[in-house]
Amino acid sequence: MIKRGLLALSLPFAGIATAEGLTLQLPVDCTLGDTCYIQQYMDRDPGKGFTDFQCRGLSYDGHKGTDFALPTRADMAEGVDVIAAADGRVRGFRDGMSDAGYSADTADGIEGKECGNGVVLVHPGGWETQYCHLKQGSIAIRNGQEVKAGEVLGQIGQSGRAEFPHLHLSVRQGGKPVDPFDPDGTLTCATPGDSTLWADTPAYTPGGILEVGLAQAIPDYADVKAGTAGAASLAPDAPALVVFGFSFGTLEDDVVRLEISGPDGEVISRDTRLKRNHAQAFRAIGKRRRGSAIWPTGTYTGRAILLRDGIAISTADTMIEIR
Ligand SMILES: [Zn+2]
Repeated sequence: MIKRGLLALSLPFAGIATAEGLTLQLPVDCTLGDTCYIQQYMDRDPGKGFTDFQCRGLSYDGHKGTDFALPTRADMAEGVDVIAAADGRVRGFRDGMSDAGYSADTADGIEGKECGNGVVLVHPGGWETQYCHLKQGSIAIRNGQEVKAGEVLGQIGQSGRAEFPHLHLSVRQGGKPVDPFDPDGTLTCATPGDSTLWADTPAYTPGGILEVGLAQAIPDYADVKAGTAGAASLAPDAPALVVFGFSFGTLEDDVVRLEISGPDGEVISRDTRLKRNHAQAFRAIGKRRRGSAIWPTGTYTGRAILLRDGIAISTADTMIEIR
């Protein structure tokens, strides 16, 4: 599950670039599986379909990098640093594009600038790393600057062709895209082994719950993605009690279990089976207040559980007071 407000206190090993290879450290100052997550990997299917390096579905057709995502735009507003994955030199950057993200309304202004605000670093051995969708005004380097692994380049944003706040990291050698999770290019569908480019290979999380919240009505999806849909407290005469779960990487036939419990025990619990795969999705259930009855005051817990083949693979809780 993703917990809020915890940031990594220390960085992993510094990246070391050599003539033979490149060693990468995590390019974001957050904790994977906690305050951020990998939404999509490089597409390893040369044809029209897509697959990630594990022959699973966390990718899309033609995706040439790895996406390190934040659960909500509220997390983006708080500020999460993008950091150099290895020692290198700044070959170029762009700043000044808005963090409005990609939609039918913004598509025209983004054409040809899909990376949004970005930075390209060059490393010895013909390697390059590119960092995309940075927050407007956050770029902290200049052209030609030598940077050390771990140095701040900017912050995670949603500029360019980005449908959610994330860092897209591209790795190239000799101009060709390289998957840092499987750099030799032979797709083995295996869990990452010793042959990755990472100093400390990030764990593979095949989908999970990003956020859970309680509210008095079914929220708008935009508010869920913004991180503003959950109530901090509710009144005893709230018209309904609703629990919502926001998830990523869900598959057809996954089950999202949503529950609310209060001072008198279970309020509502329901399983929803998903009919297709979703990069991101939200589901909500609720119970209306009846007539003149009021909700008992006290602490209420909302819970979202993602089940795959009957096994819970991710759980998130939230608590509010009715008073
Ligand atoms: Zn991407």
